[in-house]
Amino acid sequence: MHLSEVDTPALLIDLDAFERNLARLPTIVAEKAGNRPPPRLRPHAKTHKSPIIAHLQAAHGAIGQCCQKVGEAEVLVAGGIRDVLVTNQVVAPSKIARLAALARFARIGVCVDDLTNVAALDAACARAGTRLDVYVEVAVGLARCGVAPGPDAVPLARAIDASAHLRFMGLQAYHGTAQHLRTPDERRDAIAKAAEGARATRALIEAAGVACATITGGGTGCHDHETVADLWTELQCGSYIFMDGSYGAIRDGVGGAGLPFEHALFVWTQVMSRVAPERAILDAGHKAVAIESGMPTPVDLPGATCLRCADEHGWLALEGESRRLKLGDKLRLIPAHCDPTVNLHDWYVAVRGDLVEAVWPVAARGAVF
Ligand SMILES: *Cc1c(COP(=O)(O)O)cnc(C)c1O
Repeated sequence: MHLSEVDTPALLIDLDAFERNLARLPTIVAEKAGNRPPPRLRPHAKTHKSPIIAHLQAAHGAIGQCCQKVGEAEVLVAGGIRDVLVTNQVVAPSKIARLAALARFARIGVCVDDLTNVAALDAACARAGTRLDVYVEVAVGLARCGVAPGPDAVPLARAIDASAHLRFMGLQAYHGTAQHLRTPDERRDAIAKAAEGARATRALIEAAGVACATITGGGTGCHDHETVADLWTELQCGSYIFMDGSYGAIRDGVGGAGLPFEHALFVWTQVMSRVAPERAILDAGHKAVAIESGMPTPVDLPGATCLRCADEHGWLALEGESRRLKLGDKLRLIPAHCDPTVNLHDWYVAVRGDLVEAVWPVAARGAVF
């Protein structure tokens, strides 16, 4: 099918750009690591929610996947992914039971910041006859989940290490807010501080006699700084495959260029009302494109700005050349935030040039439990 025949709204992947992104991250990480072994890649599936994309990442060297929810882990494992880390705390007894059961089929990891949670995970694994990989989460950036860097991590590491059905792996250390800092210097400094906290925590755990082999974390905005920090053994980048408007706005400092990834995810939409010269109404509102990080950006339409979105309507303000837009014209929008946009769609329409090459389900859509 030609792209022009694809009905709207639809979620598009530009396969050429997507494939370049898939290849570029491991290449950059290997380059930046120099003579050292580069951090392994464990991409974050909260971005794509698709075992198909997870397998493509594995073909580019990914050793496993991250996800945020037990439901996402179940979809990945059912889709044949053999190593999944839930980069989150799992506390509800029903979810802990599901996670322990899932470990029959794949290697499953989870994060903790509480001793009672360690005991609950151990008991669930004893019942299920399985073993979980457990990481102590250290809050190296935003005070979200995780203990403060320093001595609070030690009793947790010891308790996991002493549990019959758990395997202590190391630290989850993700600085989320650093990823979108605008300048490379701000990002470098934030990551240096995060690395210092994680390094000191690891030293305390090892001084207590517990091996702390893995430091996992990292994201699209800081992958370069996290690689040169020589601390992280795994990077969890998610958005690099698609990019989005928010990541498009940050700079890498080389001639003011942006991140080394290309926009590969778009919402395909069309003009459904064109009654005033300065206004076009699109059939994609905030049920088709996430707007919590800002409005989407129209592609190849100079003079057009997306002003706002209602459920099913998007407002385009038109100036200059963009006023040529007619009723029924189709166009692409770059979402401001890729992950929640993906979660609004059942399918990816994967196009190469102007031809549809594949249609992939967003298999873990809505798996927020
Ligand atoms: C979202 C997230 C990532 C990936 O971040 P990107 O900015 O999409 O690369 C990695 N790790 C954790 C824990 C996350 O929540």
